[in-house]
Amino acid sequence: MKIASFDGSRIGVITGDRITDITDLADPNPGMWPPVGMVRFIDAFDKLRPQVVKAVETRPSKALDQVRLECPVQWPNKVIAIPANYDAHIEEMKTGTGLISPFRASGQGFFLKSNSSLSGPADPIVVPPIPGREIHHESELAIIIGEGGRNISRADALNHVFGYACLIDVVVRGKEERVMRKSYDTFCPLGPYIVTADEVGPTEAIDLELSVDGVIKQQANTRNMIVDIPEMIVMASAVMTLYPGDIIASGTPAGVGPIAPGNKVHIKIQNVGEMTLDVVAGDVGMHPVWDKPAG
Ligand code: MN
Repeated sequence: MKIASFDGSRIGVITGDRITDITDLADPNPGMWPPVGMVRFIDAFDKLRPQVVKAVETRPSKALDQVRLECPVQWPNKVIAIPANYDAHIEEMKTGTGLISPFRASGQGFFLKSNSSLSGPADPIVVPPIPGREIHHESELAIIIGEGGRNISRADALNHVFGYACLIDVVVRGKEERVMRKSYDTFCPLGPYIVTADEVGPTEAIDLELSVDGVIKQQANTRNMIVDIPEMIVMASAVMTLYPGDIIASGTPAGVGPIAPGNKVHIKIQNVGEMTLDVVAGDVGMHPVWDKPAG
């Protein structure tokens, strides 16, 4: 099932090029702040599923191009991110720009990206005007947690996955704290919707691709991940209670590179979806922290 946020935090199920509004099944107050309807929907999904299926069969639907898709999870408890999760990317960081020191996710753990950096498939990536710094795209498979938990076992890990989405981990290259470099507003596009785990199927060999202005920059397969999806859940839940709607960005493959205003960034993940994002110039975001060379 493909589940989207649209038109002011409404919840819909996408079938082909149509969307069925099922907001009322999970969220009595769509449009209220904070926008936690999708988190509640994910939490209740197993119980709601028969009603959702019936609603899709019986309710009128809208053409997908008549609605505005939004970030599918707008108010998660956290966005967890795995660094350096493909060997080829680690190599490029060692030998390429040299802006970050080499390490591997298997010995490095994870970090957090600000929840407020999340944006949706129709939102542009707004790059701040930081002279002398590159802002890079990282194409990543996002894992959306279903049932929460702490200290989840490897054997049970995939039972805690609600679904998957495309995610771009946008970052200012440099040596400053990673949270600051990765947490500008719109630095975490997520979408275009969530595909439930049953529909994605086995995740050991999923193709990912990212292009900028039609030129392919990143191409990889999840079989080349260093830390696989079950282990990400084991590792994160060893430390923190996972909650429904939590997002795990699974790390980028090789081919990261700069984006600039005017670019169109396209991300495509097999069995998950694709979206194209405009890159635009922001007029805020300067700070003296950036007033030094990146390296
Ligand atoms: Mn990343």
